[in-house]
Amino acid sequence: MSKPIVRFAPSPTGLIHIGNARQALMNALFARREGGVFVLRFDDTDLGRSKREYADATEEDLAWLGIAPNLVVRQSERFALYDDAAERLRISGRLYACYETPEELEFRRKRQLARGLPPIYDRASLKLSPEDREKLEAEGRKPHWRFRLDHRNVVWHDLVRGPCHVDCASLSDPVLVREDGTYLYTLPSIVDDIDLNISHVIRGEDHVTNTAVQIQIFEALGAQVPFFAHINLLTTASGEGLSKRLGHLSLKSLREAGLEPQAVASLAVLVGSAESVRPIADLDELARLIDFDHISRAPAKFDEHELEQLNARLIHEMPYEAVRERLAALGADAGEAFWAAVRGNLTKVVDAAQWAQVVNGPVTPVIEDRAFIDTAIQALPPAPWDAATWKAWTEAVKQATGLKGKALFLPLRLALTGLDHGPELAALLPLIGPERARARLAGQAA
Ligand code: GLU
Repeated sequence: MSKPIVRFAPSPTGLIHIGNARQALMNALFARREGGVFVLRFDDTDLGRSKREYADATEEDLAWLGIAPNLVVRQSERFALYDDAAERLRISGRLYACYETPEELEFRRKRQLARGLPPIYDRASLKLSPEDREKLEAEGRKPHWRFRLDHRNVVWHDLVRGPCHVDCASLSDPVLVREDGTYLYTLPSIVDDIDLNISHVIRGEDHVTNTAVQIQIFEALGAQVPFFAHINLLTTASGEGLSKRLGHLSLKSLREAGLEPQAVASLAVLVGSAESVRPIADLDELARLIDFDHISRAPAKFDEHELEQLNARLIHEMPYEAVRERLAALGADAGEAFWAAVRGNLTKVVDAAQWAQVVNGPVTPVIEDRAFIDTAIQALPPAPWDAATWKAWTEAVKQATGLKGKALFLPLRLALTGLDHGPELAALLPLIGPERARARLAGQAA
């Protein structure tokens, strides 16, 4: 296969969500694996709804995920290309002027349905003579433009869905240009796919229904038809579709919630595939796991709880060097031994701050049995403390008090940390150190 050229083509009308990230990653990682090119194309022909700030936020979100596009294009800067293509289609008789108002179309649609006919556009405008058109335009009517479909069966081999076919005789001729001269999504998308030599159109399954029409337009423009891979969509855990407009599960909100980009990427790519959903820290490895042949055709459910679990699993393996700066920014960089001691207890990196405070203080000790703690103080091993200190100490306290298990450990944990749960004390105790430990055991906040 020659090197693929792919594109992720969001319309910048809101913040991208995890479902958009799925499509972006499928494209970017496929290109990365195959040594291809990843284009980020902003479908911003709708000048009213598209916003530069959303485009910029999308770039930021992709950068956070670790997928930098090789090229960024904006459809709003490419109207001349679309005008040119529309003109070519007009000249070849594939794009024709239509004058029906929405009300007229609706009326005809209802009449067809009432007669038990499929509600397909009847091509009445195609039959207009130049004189009829002139007359309508003299009345002030402006045309919208439809693409004249060939009434034939269009087939393609979808890389995800296998052989697909659509009988185009069952479709209305699609409107490509509105009455006010603006473009619907279809034509600019195809013109750009042609202009940028897109080899694989990898996108959400909501576009399967557009594909046959698009193939006809590719052909009408004399271009080679790309491969298509229609990826199943993500839904919320309760099965609802995700919406940019509603701000569903935006990447920004996931980032701000302290989730790791690799956790988000792992879930976005692996859910609804044949692979088990597991944390993959390395994007090259994640790229190797993409397999269009084995993506489920059913929508995949995105579960926030699953994302948190993935996040936790990633952090439990994360090396100190990878988090050092972030710990410092949180005021929680208490060294490599600290990270090794606490990471297994974290769901998010920010949670390390709590344990840094436990180590560095101040901690308000909780002491329920003063006499027991006094005995424990007597048994404290001499400094310096290391990983073996906790065991030696608790053995000694056990000998002195006859207590064991929870009755032995919990009061010591409460006195040293003020909490009834947390990382292994064997690792925490040397970090807390003799001075603070003694003060806390004495009942002082330290
Ligand atoms: N802007 C379209 C969308 O967001 C792009 C569809 C496509 O990839 O062709 O759905």
